[in-house]
Amino acid sequence: MTTLPHEIQRRRTFAIISHPDAGKTTMTEKLLLYSGAIQSAGSVTAKQNQKQTQSDWMTIEQQRGISISSSALVFDYHGYHINLLDTPGHQDFSEDTYRTLMAVDSALMMLDAARGVQAQTEKLFAVCRNKNIPIITFMNKMDRPAMDFFELLEQVESTLKIKVVPMTWPIGSGPDFKGVYDLQQKRVFLYERTEHGKKRAPVQVADLFDPQLETLIGSDALQILQEQVEMVEGVLDPLDPEMFLRGEMTPVFWGSAITNFGVENFLDALVELAPSPHAIQTTQGKLEPTEESFTGFIFKLQANMSKQHRDRTAYMRVASGTFERGMAVTHTRTGREIRLSRAHTLFAQDRESIEVAYPGDIVGLVNPGVFQIGDVVSVNPKIRLADFPRFTPEHFATVSPKDVSKRKAFRKGLEQLSEEGVVQIFFPTDGARDPILGVVGQLQFEVFEHRMLEEYNVPLDLMHSSYKLVRWLAGEPSALARFAKHVEDDRGRPVMLFRNRFDLEFALEQYSDLEFLPQPKDM
Ligand code: GDP
Repeated sequence: MTTLPHEIQRRRTFAIISHPDAGKTTMTEKLLLYSGAIQSAGSVTAKQNQKQTQSDWMTIEQQRGISISSSALVFDYHGYHINLLDTPGHQDFSEDTYRTLMAVDSALMMLDAARGVQAQTEKLFAVCRNKNIPIITFMNKMDRPAMDFFELLEQVESTLKIKVVPMTWPIGSGPDFKGVYDLQQKRVFLYERTEHGKKRAPVQVADLFDPQLETLIGSDALQILQEQVEMVEGVLDPLDPEMFLRGEMTPVFWGSAITNFGVENFLDALVELAPSPHAIQTTQGKLEPTEESFTGFIFKLQANMSKQHRDRTAYMRVASGTFERGMAVTHTRTGREIRLSRAHTLFAQDRESIEVAYPGDIVGLVNPGVFQIGDVVSVNPKIRLADFPRFTPEHFATVSPKDVSKRKAFRKGLEQLSEEGVVQIFFPTDGARDPILGVVGQLQFEVFEHRMLEEYNVPLDLMHSSYKLVRWLAGEPSALARFAKHVEDDRGRPVMLFRNRFDLEFALEQYSDLEFLPQPKDM
């Protein structure tokens, strides 16, 4: 009977948030290397040639012959069971990325130490902040000339409004980067490079006042290090666990994923610091993971993942209790009883059936069209999620198949890909036939076009629209046409598209009964 608390306690479910090129894929691979899941690293160099629509993991997969092209990497480290969720590494942004963050207990924020906080880091960070997701920071690429260390920390604090607490401190940067001083253990870790960082970096450990240290790193570097450490210890607060868990304070580590310097210190601290699975808010109140009866929720849908398996997968996070394959549960949105028999785990040569899973784990369920994002499956038929956000589109385009004979495949693709959250769809109400796609980031259009072609064999005509703002309406105002375009969402709810804020505000002035609703959550 003690299995469930023990399994929960050792689980760590997190995602990496970063701006493209900060080193997320490299770090992912190094985490696998240090955990022993792979024997040597070095696939990332091949990545530059890959298509943008692919998951970064596909590169690792192709290079290693392992199948990880799905949503979670699972590995064990020092008795901890880690689920690392993929946030697609697009230059741009999609709902998919946001949604993945609904299924994690913490996030690893990776910054390029030469560039500091970049646009996409900021956006992803905002989602984490909004959900109070604890954040652990890694300053990467210390083997390259970096920003001034204190300036970099200051920039994180002022841009992201989060307090920083260094847990390690870099010893030099660029070609002089030698290792890190661990401020907790009060030990110096000096690393040696291995060829292309393929193997774990040999490490030598010393005390800050070890007489030998001067010979190892040089007297200038030693003096700088001792001064900086004194300063850091003097001015910075210790890590406050409560503030960290609320996402108001972040522990900071330094290193270089490519050379493996600092990666082990980081991973050791990561498993200790990152929280185990948290309770979730449901319509029945707070649901603790330790609750014995099983509940899980769907946070992501994906179609046509591999050519051998042309079906859809719904990704479920176990929220409470123990999942057992084949168990009978209620699909609480429809009240239907379903059996979870076609469940698979993700990190394997191919799909492997998963027999048992615990809170924090991600289970792929083959989805014969029953599941939607935010759905709950539970032993308790009443449970629904209290909150599962959709994100407001900011770009719109009218779409139609190039070849009219492909209308049927077009509609099917449209329906499935919108269900997955690749795009949102709106339908014109003025008799025009072509639907309008809404996306959060422009790249979603490209992903959509690519997948319609590859998976449904439908080449598209896409016409970007000048509308930029969307509002759901309470009621049915009719005379708005001068200011806006009247459309319906995929559930037939009335929606207005505006070109700009000026039109929107003018419409509000003109029509006193005009009222907008918050974007519906679709549950
Ligand atoms: P992602 O886009 O965040 O997944 O970034 P990648 O892991 O693909 O890394 C982007 C580029 O930065 C690649 O060329 C990597 O080899 C390089 N890179 C990653 N980590 C480091 C690092 O610690 N030091 C240096 N010098 N380059 C790195």
